[in-house]
Amino acid sequence: MTTLETTIFDDLESNVRGYCRSWPTVFDTASGAWLHDEGGRDYLDFFAGAGSLNYGHNNPILKRALIDYISRDGITHGLDMSTVAKRELLESLRRNILDPRDLDYKVQFPGPTGANAVEAALKLARKVTGRTEIINFTNAFHGMTLGALSVTGNASKRAGAGVPLVHSTAMPFDGYLGDSDGLDWMERVLDDTSSGQDVPAAVIVETVQGEGGVNVARAQWLRRLSELCKARGILLIVDDVQMGCGRTGPFFSFEVAGIKPDIVTLSKSISGYGLPMALVLMKRELDVWAPGEHNGTFRGNNPAFVTAAATLDNYWSDGNLEAATIVKGERVRRALSGLAAAYDGLSTRGRGLVQGLVFEDASQAGKVTQIAFEHGLLVETSGAEDEVVKLLPPLTITAAELDHGLEILASAVDVACSGKVK
Ligand code: PMP
Repeated sequence: MTTLETTIFDDLESNVRGYCRSWPTVFDTASGAWLHDEGGRDYLDFFAGAGSLNYGHNNPILKRALIDYISRDGITHGLDMSTVAKRELLESLRRNILDPRDLDYKVQFPGPTGANAVEAALKLARKVTGRTEIINFTNAFHGMTLGALSVTGNASKRAGAGVPLVHSTAMPFDGYLGDSDGLDWMERVLDDTSSGQDVPAAVIVETVQGEGGVNVARAQWLRRLSELCKARGILLIVDDVQMGCGRTGPFFSFEVAGIKPDIVTLSKSISGYGLPMALVLMKRELDVWAPGEHNGTFRGNNPAFVTAAATLDNYWSDGNLEAATIVKGERVRRALSGLAAAYDGLSTRGRGLVQGLVFEDASQAGKVTQIAFEHGLLVETSGAEDEVVKLLPPLTITAAELDHGLEILASAVDVACSGKVK
């Protein structure tokens, strides 16, 4: 492998940096499902900017829209002023996403990160209900700010807060207790005035836990959760920051359950181009914000609005991307199931184009991602012990690219699991 100049990163950049340690090279350019480092090596991307690049790197349709907008001196920084770019985005969102799904949501532009959208959602739920408590789930991940961390599971991330994380209770996510349904417990404590569980303002849930290890909630579990909340006047927040924008197939990951959450958070792939942007969608009657009550300097990232509108117009005006994602997801699932059948201690889980290969021996998952990198494939681990290799390719990846990446993965598994052939 070419040795690249990295001294400045070690000397000047904080210890907090993470991904550059797993992928020790210097990336320079990227297009579609490929990144290229400055030494001329190519890497197939099964990571997609942690889910921010569902339409690939420098997608030509989005790039054209962005270049045209910048060339005509379109507004770049707009706070929450009304702009043509924002109007076109809202119109496109209504036409392509909300109306066809019969969703009467209002749209909030928070600061442009997932964590900021989560903070806004939690604040809004508390304001609407006048309650303080939030129910979250085991292995959840909602971001690194204090409110988002308070509903996040991972102990080392929580420890980084440096202050007590309060006003949240973790309940068992689907599958956490094996065959028994954790919602039985949740229902019991909510209905028992002596349980010690205060009635919460909201429940916040990911339909598939991306960082938590590709844990998939069944549709019937989500439906029961939704009904349980509705019956008790508890707001349901679906954090679709990672699983929204088509990652699991449909635009919203909760569509599979036929539910309508009270509040939805979106970020990552909503701009489509990797530009920072986030949205909070709330049922119309929940929009009790006072002007400026939640704000943020960069909530009007208009170039992101332009690429977001272009993704909705080009990829979500029909069902083609959704159908293609399901087909590609099945292709990945078949390949992973083949590996699970061939080696001891492996299993699979996922939905659409988020698929996980689960290792009983977590150290093997780390080895697989390292070997994959050496062979030109970017893929990361997730889960409590980093025991899951999480595959998150761009939705626009070709079948041939998908197969190529799966072949690299298979040979990495073969090396990491040698001696464990069934
Ligand atoms: N929610 C979920 C479900 C996420 O996966 C993430 C990021 N991994 C976040 C929130 C936080 O997003 P951000 O890093 O943009 O703050």
